[in-house]
Amino acid sequence: MIRRLIDRLLNRKGRGPRAAIREKAREYKGSALGVASVSVSDAALRTCETLQKAGHQAWVVGGGVRDLLLGLRPKDFDVATDATPEQVRALFRRSRVIGRRFQIVHVIFGRETIEVSTFRAIQDDAETDEHGRVLRDNVWGSQPEDAARRDFTINALYYDPHADRILDYHDGVRDLKKRSLRIIGDPEQRFREDPVRMLRVARFVAKLGFTIDPGTRAPIRVLAPLISNIPSARLFDEMLKLLVSGHAMACLHELRREGLHQGMMPMLDMILEQPDGERFVTTALERTDQRVLAGKTISPGFLFASLLWQPVRDRWQRAVDAGEPNIPALSTAIDTVLDEQAEQLAIQRRHMADMREIWMLQPRFERRSGRTPYALLEHIRLRAGYDFLMLRCDAGELSAELGEWWTEFMDASPQERAALIARASEQGSSGGGGPRKRRRRSRGRGRADTGDAAAGAPGPSAAAG
Ligand code: ATP
Ligand code: MG
Repeated sequence: MIRRLIDRLLNRKGRGPRAAIREKAREYKGSALGVASVSVSDAALRTCETLQKAGHQAWVVGGGVRDLLLGLRPKDFDVATDATPEQVRALFRRSRVIGRRFQIVHVIFGRETIEVSTFRAIQDDAETDEHGRVLRDNVWGSQPEDAARRDFTINALYYDPHADRILDYHDGVRDLKKRSLRIIGDPEQRFREDPVRMLRVARFVAKLGFTIDPGTRAPIRVLAPLISNIPSARLFDEMLKLLVSGHAMACLHELRREGLHQGMMPMLDMILEQPDGERFVTTALERTDQRVLAGKTISPGFLFASLLWQPVRDRWQRAVDAGEPNIPALSTAIDTVLDEQAEQLAIQRRHMADMREIWMLQPRFERRSGRTPYALLEHIRLRAGYDFLMLRCDAGELSAELGEWWTEFMDASPQERAALIARASEQGSSGGGGPRKRRRRSRGRGRADTGDAAAGAPGPSAAAG
């Protein structure tokens, strides 16, 4: 009671969470801002229509509206409504309630899923952890409240495609024009409530090419350590969103610029702080960006296998140098690296299984004699393993010749295959990846993966680009 009173007094001075609520919105015609309902997916249109016919409010909100206003093609559409999750559930046959801390309803239409969220209230006494992170956010409220608790002004625009109306409570349209990313409310408090918002800053700035509003940017450096409080499964989801945003490298640079990369995942520190690992990862991420921008799918297993390859490879090399047999050494290196990452980042089991398979296939590509290459052709994960091999070749870790050989071998006739194997044996390259003489690095730079391992020993091959 007393706490409420204090909150109310603070709010009156404009400092509490409710201070961000604006009861009145600016209203625009969608068509006047260049937004047409035909650009909204059928699934989103039908979701809004069904909810509205049942007497509820329903608005397209979030990234869909933002991207349409920017003339970009939205990745997906989110809908906000005053109907409760149960009411939404009851209106759509193919739908389910998901989430605990933050409940929403997934409404499924064929291959498209619409995320429907109920207007949230601003809570005066939300349950938080000791750093201010909100643990439960399922109290329903009004549209002005819902707008005030969204993250950025440009993400808090509501669009009714049937009525051609856009509601703007926080000058999001102005910020879009200024190309400025501004958080709603008190920046420090909003980042404390949910530190993921700091990662979202990096993603949106990189993706949209916006600048961060100075007030929004100011507290980030100080609050960056709160990233370590994010539950690991959520951190994984957010990481994945960054990496498949189509602007992965730009996102990682942005994270570094804001001091957000440290401790986020051991891997990121490594990628961003050791120039040695960078060529491989840069190549991998450039390809990921190209695929995303071409509308192709990305396999998280492949992506994380690329990002974590460097530490696996280093450990593998060290174990082989210490006299361990090749394949068990690789297997142990994989276990160690996956365990290390799992402490902070909850990579799902099925992704881990994919990563392991892709990695374990690698030494097999280097054995180009006898039946080994034929056996590999039958492997169910050949394609992913081969793509990974090509990545290693392109990054200069293996000779281009090995990649070209496999490209030919996979498409060849039986006679051609036999000839290719004979050729590889003649060149003496059947036992390892490519010509060993050409070394990228000079001696004496002291890296375990150059030098002796190139002399035909098992284990990771030397760079030969
Ligand atoms: P994208 O194009 O990546 O989907 P988006 O802005 O739609 O971008 P979503 O994660 O789909 O991002 O979230 C939808 C909307 O929900 C956001 O636009 C924002 O209004 C709100 N939102 C999402 N995450 C948060 C958060 N952590 N805090 C506050 N609001 C959020
Ligand atoms: Mg979205």
